Amino acid sequence: MELGADVDRVFDSPIPEWDMASVSSALAEHYGLTGDLSPLPGERDQNLLLESTEGFFNVKIANVAEDPDALDMQQAALEHLATHATGSLRYPEARHTLEGARVAMIETGGVRFPIRLQSYIVGEPLQVASSSISNRDLGLVVAQVQADLSGFFHRIAGRRLLWDVRRLESLGALGPVGDGTVDGVVADVIKRVVPDILHRLEGSEAQVVHNDLNPDNLLVQDGQVTGVVDFGDMAHGPRIADLAITASYQLFGEADPAAVLSDVAGGFAAAAILAAEEVDVLPDLVAARLCQTIVISTWRGRQHPDNAEYILGDVEEAGSSLLALQECDPDDLRQRVAAAAGVITEQPPRDTAELTKARRSALAPGLGLSYRQPIHLTSAQGVWLTDRSGKRYLDAYNNVVQVGHGHPLVAATLAHQTRRLNTNTRYLTDEVVRYAERLCELLPRGLEVCYFTNSGSEANDLAVRIARAVTGNTGVVITNHAYHGSTTVTMAMSPEEHGTRPLEPWVAMVSPPGGPQPQVGKAVMSLDERGVAPAALFLDTIFSSDGIHDPPPDYLDGAAAQIRAAGGLFVADEVQAGLGRVGARMWGFAAGAATPDIVTLGKPIGNGHPVGAVVTTRDIAGRFADEDYFFSTFGGNNVAAAVGSAVLDITLGEELPERAERAGNYLREGIKSITSSVIGEVRGAGLFTGVEIVGPDGRPDGPAAESIVEAMKDCGVLIGSTGPHDNVLKIRPPLVFREAHADVALSALAKVLG
Ligand code: PMP
Repeated sequence: MELGADVDRVFDSPIPEWDMASVSSALAEHYGLTGDLSPLPGERDQNLLLESTEGFFNVKIANVAEDPDALDMQQAALEHLATHATGSLRYPEARHTLEGARVAMIETGGVRFPIRLQSYIVGEPLQVASSSISNRDLGLVVAQVQADLSGFFHRIAGRRLLWDVRRLESLGALGPVGDGTVDGVVADVIKRVVPDILHRLEGSEAQVVHNDLNPDNLLVQDGQVTGVVDFGDMAHGPRIADLAITASYQLFGEADPAAVLSDVAGGFAAAAILAAEEVDVLPDLVAARLCQTIVISTWRGRQHPDNAEYILGDVEEAGSSLLALQECDPDDLRQRVAAAAGVITEQPPRDTAELTKARRSALAPGLGLSYRQPIHLTSAQGVWLTDRSGKRYLDAYNNVVQVGHGHPLVAATLAHQTRRLNTNTRYLTDEVVRYAERLCELLPRGLEVCYFTNSGSEANDLAVRIARAVTGNTGVVITNHAYHGSTTVTMAMSPEEHGTRPLEPWVAMVSPPGGPQPQVGKAVMSLDERGVAPAALFLDTIFSSDGIHDPPPDYLDGAAAQIRAAGGLFVADEVQAGLGRVGARMWGFAAGAATPDIVTLGKPIGNGHPVGAVVTTRDIAGRFADEDYFFSTFGGNNVAAAVGSAVLDITLGEELPERAERAGNYLREGIKSITSSVIGEVRGAGLFTGVEIVGPDGRPDGPAAESIVEAMKDCGVLIGSTGPHDNVLKIRPPLVFREAHADVALSALAKVLG
């Protein structure tokens, strides 16, 4: 049989048969190792166990046809695993020759054989292990091996062994297996399924994969897979085909193939994300792999009658499994596997006009949409949003997605934690404690205990309760056009939303920066006239709804001193300004010297997921606990805390606050350099910019600002407007917005104003 490709000669050539004495002297010469040798089983290599004083080694003498480069790749992969593997799986370690080579050549009778050494790892092959391993756990093992191998490459990783799924068509050339029924099914799979599989695998995720995680190559100890051996079939290929290989062996002797495939896929999906297309092709890949096992092994058994028992070991089982798999209803099979793997079947987006109508009918009235012609968004990535027609918009508005839309680390963290554990904070679990510690580390000393909520509103609501409990007072001082939330209490503290409606008697107002200095004392007096004493002053420290002001230090320090003198607490609402939005100083309140008594957090800290927090001093929290109580079912759950931690990792790891400061300064300078009579003051900090729009008389011009926001959208840039006159352009992008994005926004603004 001549198959043409060089790699197939490996299967044609016999296993070497070196005598122990010659191997011993080769080992002494090339590796400086001596010890007892005993035979180990092998398919292509002559494998020997070396028990030396330096440990146990697997001595592998390859057959003459083996490409030395392929052996080099195996040793290189083991070196990669030794430094990159993150899980608990153990892999053999490659041992170099005395000269530092990965592979040595040894000679007998004028023929040169490649030899290499790997540490021998202890464990019983799963094939013969007394304890069984669940199919789900095997799926997890495959995902772990792939994760450990990810990032590895070698110059010949693109080789295509006969076992490669992309060479299925050549199976026909190897001849029939001799069982009419099996031959019929194999022929059908090759003819009908194979061309389709190859087509469907295009574009699926690929990497260097082990390619033979069968029960002979998985080592078990104490009822767990602890080791992986035999990297001889390794190649770059679709990762789902790697999973199909493992799954195919688990079908042996099983009555319900759908259950097996579901469990293996479910286990894999617990550690890695499977695409719908991958899950869809899995059953066909498993059938194809069973055909490979049957046809290639039968052919090789004919070639090597002396090793036939080892080679043919799986053929009968594979035949029965293939027949059982063919009996399954294909749609039912796919659905069960998809459900187990947590694959989501996406609904196509509706027609925009139809969706607008449906929204009007299904959502409560009053919940308005942005823009005269609302945008029908379908996806987003980084600082870009895409609508149903495929038009892209630069997102210069949404601060909630602090680290960018669809950040892979946030998505992966969320998916991983959802699968692992998600429960409330009344159990002892790591995530929430770690997250609280990390948040407190970023805040000034003294702010050292956290409560977790689901939103900024809930955080502010709780802050009011705490302030009232510890001061014994009820009054709250806010700025003239503040927004602090949507609960009954925080809505009463949000004149931005209720306009001219009279204030509750327990609320008083002060001016934001930019006008007269804060007259908290005066506000306290107005409360006093109503028989109310102040519990707290709440300041949104970038004054986002008051028209965006980066406060001068004396504003914050003066206000804090005045409220404290009147017996109230200083609460910094950092829902907008916090976590680097305003630049390297990290927090809005850090513009001043006063440390707040309470800090509230929301919006960006969860990158779009409902995470809110209240951070305060141990003393204040203790006094609140004496008087009152707080518990939130979802607040601070494991997923929320894990996502919050991922956002911190990215924010700090990518130095987003520093970058925000640079990009924000660049943006503001760029806006100031645009010549236009409608631009008034340009202000802000970090990536929170306000641009005042004024009329010819220099007065605030809200309608002009609205037109600019609309025209910017038409140019593909999303911004908003704010302030008591709604005349301040609000530019507040994700923190991954860079100077190059600022250039896009600046040229759109110049065009719109031109
Ligand atoms: N405080 C401030 C300063 C806010 O801007 C907001 C939301 N716009 C909130 C609190 C309320 O946050 P949430 O909408 O998450 O409840």
